[in-house]
Amino acid sequence: MSCDFLALAQPGVQKLSPYVPGKPVDELARELNLDPRTIVKLASNENPLGPSPRVIEAIRAQLDELTRYPDGNGFLLKQKLAQRYEVGIEQVTLGNGSNDILELVARAYLAPGLNAVFSEHAFAVYPIATQAVGAQAKAVPAKQWGHDLDAMLAAIDTNTRVVFIANPNNPTGTWFGAEALERFLVAVPEHVLVVLDEAYIEYAADGELPDGLAFLNTHPNLLVSRTFSKAYGLAALRVGYAICSAQIADVLNRVRQPFNVNSIALAAACAALDDGEYLNRSRASNAAGMQQLEAGFSELGLEWIPSRGNFIAVDFGQDAAPINQALLRDGVIVRPVAGYGMPTFLRVSIGTETENARFLDVLRKVLGR
Ligand SMILES: *Cc1c(COP(=O)(O)O)cnc(C)c1O
Repeated sequence: MSCDFLALAQPGVQKLSPYVPGKPVDELARELNLDPRTIVKLASNENPLGPSPRVIEAIRAQLDELTRYPDGNGFLLKQKLAQRYEVGIEQVTLGNGSNDILELVARAYLAPGLNAVFSEHAFAVYPIATQAVGAQAKAVPAKQWGHDLDAMLAAIDTNTRVVFIANPNNPTGTWFGAEALERFLVAVPEHVLVVLDEAYIEYAADGELPDGLAFLNTHPNLLVSRTFSKAYGLAALRVGYAICSAQIADVLNRVRQPFNVNSIALAAACAALDDGEYLNRSRASNAAGMQQLEAGFSELGLEWIPSRGNFIAVDFGQDAAPINQALLRDGVIVRPVAGYGMPTFLRVSIGTETENARFLDVLRKVLGR
């Protein structure tokens, strides 16, 4: 080797570890010589219902246009979102997943010498997006696994440009209410962009979680990011969006890749937005599955963190890595969260009733209870 290209990477990048996704079914099947059809994956907060038939139909209708670039402005989807949420179309930014939105924010507003504030045990993409542009990531200790919004306020300094808050948070599932959000927004300095990550908002029943969009008019430094990857069931297609002031949206649009959302994703997301029945089914199935897992954990004498997402973090009170390994050997993939500072926990995505039951059966066996 002539040159050390790790040493040449910018310092923030050298300190990063790559994002660790949930283990793919095919990978485990190859490793253990298992039939992929017998494997249950509850590791990436994916929608267990399979895609909406209306989405499949919309995708088929797009296939003849594959030689064309997509609408780089995403007009139809932005228009639909603007109508749905009663905001101006100029307030909507589309992303290649909401991860893309988080990166657009970092590229536009962070740089060496500046910092972003977020919570301990928060989504792994916040430090990645922040350090990738040479800014400092300030992780604030959590309170009972959730965001300590007062401590996060106290961590904001003159070099802070962005605060990332997730409601509910992944991987803890913790959430805060409208009053806490309002108090936070009122106290955040005007020059700090608050990114409110609502990736799981559609799972909450009415009034269970504050609607970030309701705070946009009074707080022009607020950006709400949402995704089609979870309750809408389109994780494979990578489409998310931000709603914020027209001025911030204009800034994000300057750093956006011209065709960041592909035409199939655009068509699918439009169809998904129109399929209220699918969304209701997602919500109902998730609520039932959450109860099923909680009842199972309770029976096994396990503690968990109450969650408003489509996943739940369960505590084994001991290193969870061997338990994870044993689950894998029996064809059950869940998510270790030691990398999030939670070594005694596993995060389990809510599956179908059958998948949840299989997971609980295997877990019972693994724990010898
Ligand atoms: C899953 C998730 C997202 C969504 O990611 P996409 O890029 O839209 O698939 C965003 N934020 C959090 C906290 C998540 O858990």
